[in-house]
Amino acid sequence: MARSKNHCNFCGRSEDEVRILLTGLHGYICDDCVDSAYHVIEKSLGVKPREKEEKKSPVPDFRSMPKPTEIKAFLDNYVIGQDDAKMTLAVAVYNHYKRLGQKVEAADENKVEIEKSNIIMVGSTGTGKTLLARTIAKLIQVPFTIVDATVFTEAGYVGEDVESILSRLLQVADYNVEKAQRGIVFIDEIDKIARKRDNPSITRDVGGEGVQQGLLKLLEGSMVNVPPKGGRKHPDQDYIHVDTRNILFICGGAFDGIEQKIAQRLNTHVVGFQSVQNIMKIDKDNLMRYVMPQDLKSFGLIPELIGRLPVLTYLNPLDREALHRILTEPKNSIIKQYQELMSMDGIQLTFEDDALNYIVDKAVEFKLGARGLRSIVESIMRPVMFELPSQKVKKYAVTKAYAEEQLNKTSMM
Ligand code: ADP
Repeated sequence: MARSKNHCNFCGRSEDEVRILLTGLHGYICDDCVDSAYHVIEKSLGVKPREKEEKKSPVPDFRSMPKPTEIKAFLDNYVIGQDDAKMTLAVAVYNHYKRLGQKVEAADENKVEIEKSNIIMVGSTGTGKTLLARTIAKLIQVPFTIVDATVFTEAGYVGEDVESILSRLLQVADYNVEKAQRGIVFIDEIDKIARKRDNPSITRDVGGEGVQQGLLKLLEGSMVNVPPKGGRKHPDQDYIHVDTRNILFICGGAFDGIEQKIAQRLNTHVVGFQSVQNIMKIDKDNLMRYVMPQDLKSFGLIPELIGRLPVLTYLNPLDREALHRILTEPKNSIIKQYQELMSMDGIQLTFEDDALNYIVDKAVEFKLGARGLRSIVESIMRPVMFELPSQKVKKYAVTKAYAEEQLNKTSMM
């Protein structure tokens, strides 16, 4: 039996991926994590930093970075459609590198200083916002982290302080502050901290406006005191000072119901402007594409926050065609993943066209979007994966009739 490899219990890397893996009573730790832990202890206890060269990490040069068209082509391998969001992200990441380069080269006071342009992505749930962020993380060479805005609350309440966003960036940068200061942060579910309109006046909007206020100083760029371990700040803790001027923030949210706000605005806009109505044929099935900063304000984001997210992009709802493509086309599409699993048993798995169409129909019917595709295919594939490995089968084709039969047996129907 092959011996499974030992892994660092802190970062998860295997013994092959690290220089030294130390063994403890109940686990392992690698040399990098020992180093990071030492750094945290130094900072937490206020001990003077060790007399050693801080790991210098060279600023990545934008000239060696893929160009925006190449970044988009890379995203195309994993994410179906969403061209507007892809182009926006590709340009933003490329410009992020340019700005970092400028900070290094420019000593010249007359030089035009490029300001950062944080981004906000609006799109229904399951349309690929997080997938885009994760995919771009594969490509870039700066620290990247994804955080969820729902865990944050205003200072003084149960929950995490917004500064802990930067604790996670520090963690992925191995506590190298200089490196973290050039990172990119994706804040998911930003819509969940929208101001709640019908909030009774006696209860405070702890997770809403207060958190938005807290985010302002992070987004605009300032020195922030970051608790090294994240969570809630407390007075006798030592902080790591992080300058957020060069950290790029990308926010994403579903903004459920924002279409009504957009529709209202478009209607009032059109009244009395016959010509506008004629010129602009409104695509009623995809109002998201007309999203403007004022709609975010109507939804409950405060104007100061919107002002610090100057680049606004949207994701399209996924239609049948997009769902079909998501099933089969991406590099690690759901179907390809199951084919890979079966090929390990020497079985060539195929899906008949009818079966694929049926899966898409069901995903549309269940209104689960792309997320639903996986659970539907999983229900269909479970018996196949259970039985086939112990049978002498070389090929297996999933038919519509089989898919229907399996799905009918599950609680999904
Ligand atoms: P959200 O917009 O809510 O962040 P996700 O990016 O988490 O949605 O999407 C959920 C899952 O659906 C992804 O892991 C992926 O498998 C699939 N998916 C969603 N949109 C797309 C897309 N445009 N292209 C390919 N897969 C997608």
